[in-house]
Amino acid sequence: MNEQAEPISTPGVNDLTITVVYDNNPYKEGIETAWGFSCLITGTEKTILFDTGGDGQLLLNNMKKLAIEPNTIDIVILSHIHGDHTGGLNSFLQKNPDVTVYLPESFPQKFKDDVKVHRAKIMDVNQYSKICEDVYSTGQLGVWIKEQSLIIRTKKGLVIITGCAHPGIVKIVDVAKDIMKDDILLVMGGFHLEWVTKGKIERIISAFKQMGVRYVGPSHCTGEKARALFEKRFGSNYIKVGAGKVVTMEELS
Ligand SMILES: [Zn+2]
Ligand SMILES: [Zn+2]
Repeated sequence: MNEQAEPISTPGVNDLTITVVYDNNPYKEGIETAWGFSCLITGTEKTILFDTGGDGQLLLNNMKKLAIEPNTIDIVILSHIHGDHTGGLNSFLQKNPDVTVYLPESFPQKFKDDVKVHRAKIMDVNQYSKICEDVYSTGQLGVWIKEQSLIIRTKKGLVIITGCAHPGIVKIVDVAKDIMKDDILLVMGGFHLEWVTKGKIERIISAFKQMGVRYVGPSHCTGEKARALFEKRFGSNYIKVGAGKVVTMEELS
């Protein structure tokens, strides 16, 4: 899929809700944690599952506890090929094959064939593209590990959701800002800073501030050290993300 987005004319999503279904960081009591990431996006034209965590049964269990019906989901977006983001897909498709799966074009053919076995539709994403009203993919970025991130246009600014941010979290935010030419309300998901030095993390946080990022919700592979540093710099605009966390527009005022 290479289509360029049409000129933006809508005011943006009003009632966006992001529910973290799968994360290694705990948040809500009773919601299981395991290495990986998945979140549900509602309030947009289509209901979207972004990544599927590593374990299908755990994904479905958490969905049930969070009162999420798999068959209400229209679109599944996979950020990148790693098992902690794609591992739950098969179990999910057994519950609801009537979805379109957006994946980086570079995914192996075998993976795509397995999706087709369930009769789910596949959309290969190469460059920046529109997924549905106010929802966009950055396109597959990165050299070694190709990864796409999600951009949602809300009436308060852009929400950017990353899987592992292998192409570099600053690069992703920069690309999103450049494409959409809008302010950045929130960046959340895995920032991949677990083994990064304090100095480099500080520089990344400064870059976020310079790009005008208002809220951050680093999770998954961000690492405790980086999460603490983000919290320190962003203060009340730091959103604690973990399994079972629900982010709504009210929190982002
Ligand atoms: Zn990951
Ligand atoms: Zn990864």
